Amino acid sequence: MPSAAPGAAALPIGLFGGTFDPIHCGHLRTAFELWQELKLAEVRFLPTGSPPHRDHLYASAELRLKMVAAAIADQPGFVVDDREVRRSGVSYSVDTLTDLRREYPQRSLCLLLGMDAFLGLPNWHRWRELLTLAHIVVAHRPGWRAPAKGPLGEILVDHGTGAIRDLHERPAGCLFVHAVTQLEISSTELRALIVGGRDPRYLVPDAVRQIIRETRCYAAQQGPRSPRPPSGEAT
Ligand code: ATP
Repeated sequence: MPSAAPGAAALPIGLFGGTFDPIHCGHLRTAFELWQELKLAEVRFLPTGSPPHRDHLYASAELRLKMVAAAIADQPGFVVDDREVRRSGVSYSVDTLTDLRREYPQRSLCLLLGMDAFLGLPNWHRWRELLTLAHIVVAHRPGWRAPAKGPLGEILVDHGTGAIRDLHERPAGCLFVHAVTQLEISSTELRALIVGGRDPRYLVPDAVRQIIRETRCYAAQQGPRSPRPPSGEAT
């Protein structure tokens, strides 16, 4: 597991959750730009175990974890955290953040989300508590706009900040929207491409491509690996 950059002890920790089925260069570039530009101590990738918002997953949790670890192996400041994979039952972000807040009572924690994930936030379990536990950093994603109205428009007004300093000086409670280089890649499209017999080269790191080739985890749509749990949350 790569360690945080030297001298990074008091800087914010970025938390990047996802199904990562598979992890791709859109995820990695976003995490890298946020790590650099927000001066994060680390970006912690948290592959979800049994996600509440997905109909099904294709690669097993262990394999998704292995692909994330392989993808970030050479990048200082990138870390994989397997707590959601190890947890039995449904993964809720609020539970993960509660755990992390217990481990880091004073530290700034930044939950990193793509805009599409942010737009689904009101469907997450106990979503309003998230800002009591962490900041939320939203990365612009192709085709998505920040909402002006509704519950998300309201939290943008009440919690929005344009100052990176706020993310460093407070442990939680701010909403920060940040543009990143837009790479229009999605795991869904990647899986479809692989099923269609095409090569995902340059859309995923070579190490991930190698695991996909060796395990043939997306070669044929064998059907869902995990059934959809009852309630809805999008991470
Ligand atoms: P799927 O197509 O299966 O829904 P995905 O590519 O959206 O997968 P996830 O693992 O569901 O990947 O996403 C994890 C996080 O990464 C979410 O916050 C999502 O918004 C963000 N994200 C996904 N793809 C991109 C991308 N191309 N650029 C920036 N952020 C992304």
